[in-house]
Amino acid sequence: MRSPLDLELVSVTKRYGDAVAVDAVSHLFPAGTYVCLLGPSGCGKSSTLRMIAGHERVTDGAILLAGRDISHLPPARRGTAMMFQSYALFPHMTVLDNVAFSLKMKGVDRATRQRKAEELLDLVGMAHLAQRLPAQLSGGQQQRAALARALITDPQVLLLDEPLSALDPFLRTRMRTELKKLQRELGITFIHVTHGQDEAMALADQVVIMNNAVIEQAGSARDVFNAPKTEFVARFMGGHNVIALGGRRHAVRSDRTRIVPSGGAGLDATVTSFEFLGTHVAVGLIGPGDTELTAMVPDEAFFAAPVEPGHTVRVGWHETDLHLLEA
Ligand code: ADP
Ligand code: MG
Repeated sequence: MRSPLDLELVSVTKRYGDAVAVDAVSHLFPAGTYVCLLGPSGCGKSSTLRMIAGHERVTDGAILLAGRDISHLPPARRGTAMMFQSYALFPHMTVLDNVAFSLKMKGVDRATRQRKAEELLDLVGMAHLAQRLPAQLSGGQQQRAALARALITDPQVLLLDEPLSALDPFLRTRMRTELKKLQRELGITFIHVTHGQDEAMALADQVVIMNNAVIEQAGSARDVFNAPKTEFVARFMGGHNVIALGGRRHAVRSDRTRIVPSGGAGLDATVTSFEFLGTHVAVGLIGPGDTELTAMVPDEAFFAAPVEPGHTVRVGWHETDLHLLEA
């Protein structure tokens, strides 16, 4: 259902010279959703985000927010804000002044902008560090300061370009949880660019998968993972086998791919490897036409009927677990 605060891309194209970075992309970003824009490097994610922010011109098409065409407005008048990497903080200004900066540019008086900056620092758990300089903060704290700085303009849409990529794995997981919580509390739209499937799966209400300048598929993390529409999505999300049956390609989750009794419905395949993963064993196989397959077999099932590399087994699945891929 549409809401008045939705963000909509209408056939948005970005060309750099002759190169098409974003090719007539149309998409509705529902208001108040955590959206992850996911795809491999070079597929057009940052260009899309920068056009929404107004840091890059659209070559063609329109961007609508809350019913207004914002395509040609300057960044500060769009109702969007971009969270820049923490290294974009001004090194000579305190955290408080960094956060208050855009209000200063708008001519807001000192007392008001400081109060507002304090509120936002409190929101991101940084009130006690307001007087520090950026260099006196840890990576995670700089990240929070950058977040507060973006949020001070009360945007309807917050844009984040790979915001967690500079953090170590532990901090990354923690910031991920905090971003999600913050989005819930604020109730605004977050559009978070990432090339990490796990990050998108963990965060997103809606995952938008891009490849080669277009959107391949959009939906809930669960839908995109369970029912990939294209071979690209199945392979990019991982955890799927892509198999040819009756001349058409299908995806089936590797944990729904089973080793079945010989003579059952399925394919013959040769075991190439196995790896213990705690609750499951990942059995690597080569099927007809040199198709590589993985069957995630529950531990007990594997130990009840162990297989060795070189064995030929029957690999099967439930009909309902097969997803026909677009040609
Ligand atoms: P992503 O963020 O998904 O990695 P980008 O949007 O940065 O992708 O880039 C998409 C394509 O556009 C790439 O082929 C990239 O080389 C090209 N590109 C990006 N920015 C520019 C630019 N300023 N000038 C020319 N080409 C660019
Ligand atoms: Mg990028």
